[in-house]
Amino acid sequence: MIIFYHPDCVEYKAVGHPERPERVLHTAAYLEENFPSFEWKRPKLAKENTLKLAHTQKHIQRLLEPEAFDGDTPYYESIYDIARHATGAALGTVESALAGHPAFSLMRPPGHHATQEQAMGFCYLNHIAIAALYARQQGVEKVVVWDFDVHHGNGTEAILKEHPAIQFISVHQYPGYPGTGVQSEGNCRNYPLPPGTEVGQYMETLEVSWEEVLHFEPDLLLVSAGFDGYRGDPITQMTLRQEDFATLGQWIASADIPTAAILEGGYSSDLPNLIGSFFEGWIHG
Ligand SMILES: [Zn+2]
Repeated sequence: MIIFYHPDCVEYKAVGHPERPERVLHTAAYLEENFPSFEWKRPKLAKENTLKLAHTQKHIQRLLEPEAFDGDTPYYESIYDIARHATGAALGTVESALAGHPAFSLMRPPGHHATQEQAMGFCYLNHIAIAALYARQQGVEKVVVWDFDVHHGNGTEAILKEHPAIQFISVHQYPGYPGTGVQSEGNCRNYPLPPGTEVGQYMETLEVSWEEVLHFEPDLLLVSAGFDGYRGDPITQMTLRQEDFATLGQWIASADIPTAAILEGGYSSDLPNLIGSFFEGWIHG
């Protein structure tokens, strides 16, 4: 397993904000201790032209203007470059996966809420959408984005919906932020679940979504890996247990598809253990 990580990504924070540096700092320490065979790589800055696969020039300019994007999404000094490192990490995971090495981006900010021209929901650049379009540009025929973050990846859907060679598949809490993803349409398959859905039902729905991933027979699987469907997450109302993330990892291991995963949400202090369980499943099958 190759982990993409850049120390820049812990260099911003807002008091009381759940998307905090400790998420990745503690996870990095946990992985170094428990998975000593993992290889760590530093991502490059994604080029502006690559960002434009998914975002408008206007959006890129806006990220440099020192003004909050919404109540959840503050402006931070250097956020443009920090987010570009996270996009670079996503691109790095794609290159690794295509070269036969599964990879994970342990970076912040997350990305799946960012649309073509709006930063929102803690997200500034949509790393996974850019990565999917980048893979297509590199000649990858079919790509699936599987999003098991508990929030709907509205930005990813908005960016990818005109791209039939890419399938976007999401399981998420509804009602819940951002309030989208109620219906499936075209290449976007949505599985909304009510708050408090019993864990057996939640896992069954995830499994149905996983069957859809396999059905599409992708040449590359990109995973929006959010760990906020966990029952101990402070900002959501769902029910997954730690061991369920190992099951998700096992499904990936059993599929034999080049796979890259990107950290999205997950705000519990148990996040390092949740990611650790995901890896246990993924590397041991
Ligand atoms: Zn989330």
